[in-house]
Amino acid sequence: MNRLKAFAVISFIVLSASSCAPKEKQHESFLQVDSQFQDYVSNFEQVSGAEGQSLAISDLVVQFGTTPSLNETGVCEWAENETPKITVNQRIWNTLNDYDKQEVIFHELGHCVLRRVHQNSEMMAYNGSQTVPASVMYPYRIPGTIYRDNMVHYHDELFDSGKKNQF
Ligand SMILES: [Zn+2]
Repeated sequence: MNRLKAFAVISFIVLSASSCAPKEKQHESFLQVDSQFQDYVSNFEQVSGAEGQSLAISDLVVQFGTTPSLNETGVCEWAENETPKITVNQRIWNTLNDYDKQEVIFHELGHCVLRRVHQNSEMMAYNGSQTVPASVMYPYRIPGTIYRDNMVHYHDELFDSGKKNQF
């Protein structure tokens, strides 16, 4: 009887100890990028490396699907211990040029990989004659030509390590 009681006490201690152990990652890394997006995701990794923080994306889904509103090109769903998921509206995607597409995917990866929130600020464009969004994390899509003409700034700003992990 005493031995049984001792066993019960030990089991209790072991269980308590495991509940205090550091929280383990609850999901396996999962990578599934639809072929239409692969070049942009690879480009994001390359630019990140060029900006001084090389990263290899290993946990991400990028796919076509339904966005919350008809005019929304893409959406990032991110939750603790889940594979981040980017969903892109195919009807809009098919109307975009390469710069538009890179801007859209970099914006969503900004959320889903860099964990950045939206930035509303604007700046004077490099041509000095118009005000443009100061960040790819602007809440609305940046036209491909504006993105292209200010790309050096946009990439510097996006991968600024001080701006990571805003959520
Ligand atoms: Zn966004």
